[in-house]
Amino acid sequence: MNFKNVTVAGSGVLGSQIAFQTAFHGYNVSVYDINDAALEKAKERLTGLKDTYATYFNDAKKAAEALERFTFSSNLKEAVKDADLIIEAIPELEKIKIKFYQDLATVAPEKTVFASNSSTMVPSQFAEYTGRPEKFLALHFANEVWKNNTAEVMGHPGTDKKYEQEVIDFAKSIGMIPLHILKEQPGYILNSLLVPFLSAGQALLAKGVADPETIDKTWMLATGAPLGPFAILDVVGLQTAYNIVATEAKHNPAVQPIADMLKTQFIDKGKMGKATGEGFYKYPNPAYLDPDFLKA
Ligand code: NAD
Repeated sequence: MNFKNVTVAGSGVLGSQIAFQTAFHGYNVSVYDINDAALEKAKERLTGLKDTYATYFNDAKKAAEALERFTFSSNLKEAVKDADLIIEAIPELEKIKIKFYQDLATVAPEKTVFASNSSTMVPSQFAEYTGRPEKFLALHFANEVWKNNTAEVMGHPGTDKKYEQEVIDFAKSIGMIPLHILKEQPGYILNSLLVPFLSAGQALLAKGVADPETIDKTWMLATGAPLGPFAILDVVGLQTAYNIVATEAKHNPAVQPIADMLKTQFIDKGKMGKATGEGFYKYPNPAYLDPDFLKA
């Protein structure tokens, strides 16, 4: 693996984390975003991440050094001029991503490998716009990269395996656990498992089969899992959960009652999950963390 210079395009929630994780492991990172205001915000996020990493890894020096490895540009050609790898973390909208890859194709050096962090789209949706389908694939991170360190690596049928391996090696080199997906799959592994699991829990609730605590307790007791579906939903956030179910309801009316339940009983009341202090549980001391939760 010959990667030295990495460009991260889109410096929002995930892009800034990916950029910091990469710089923390010694790479030079060029941060690209649409304008100076977005780049100023990126600098604030990265400074905040410096503190997060210093605390989490108990290494203030290494975190401070990482902050020195960034360059910033809102000019795409400039931002990618030395890139061995570009990781795209721009908004989850197909039109925006297509336009981005069309522009990138015209300015990126021939050597540059392109990787998308998209959560719900697959590389074959964009491969034809990249001008280098063999050097294009997905590299998917999870929120809070420093501790949730999965890196799902997934090509499309036209990706050259050589570049998949290079990206796997790169992921390892920045402290991630690479998970190689052998066949293109919407939702990768994690969301292919998690989304149906969470939907099944919500369907039990919407049908009145049991309350959230009973459903979570059943799962936790019977499998030894640390969290049940409703505790996980609170962490994911109920707005995201609602968006997923509402989209599915368009072609599967059977899940409409779940969408209605989330909207009227939670979202309309400002109960968005852990982030707002209440969802299916109340925070900061949710019942499932009580040592007695699984007793009686
Ligand atoms: P975000 O809205 O926080 O950040 C998006 C960034 O992209 C912003 O800084 C914005 O200014 C910038 N941007 C907008 N248009 C752009 C363009 N044309 N070129 C370059 N930058 C542009 O979004 P996010 O949550 O960081 O998500 C980004 C990507 O990461 C999405 O594909 C999403 O599916 C994926 N992802 C998100 C999460 C998550 O938990 N948020 C987890 C895994 C993957």
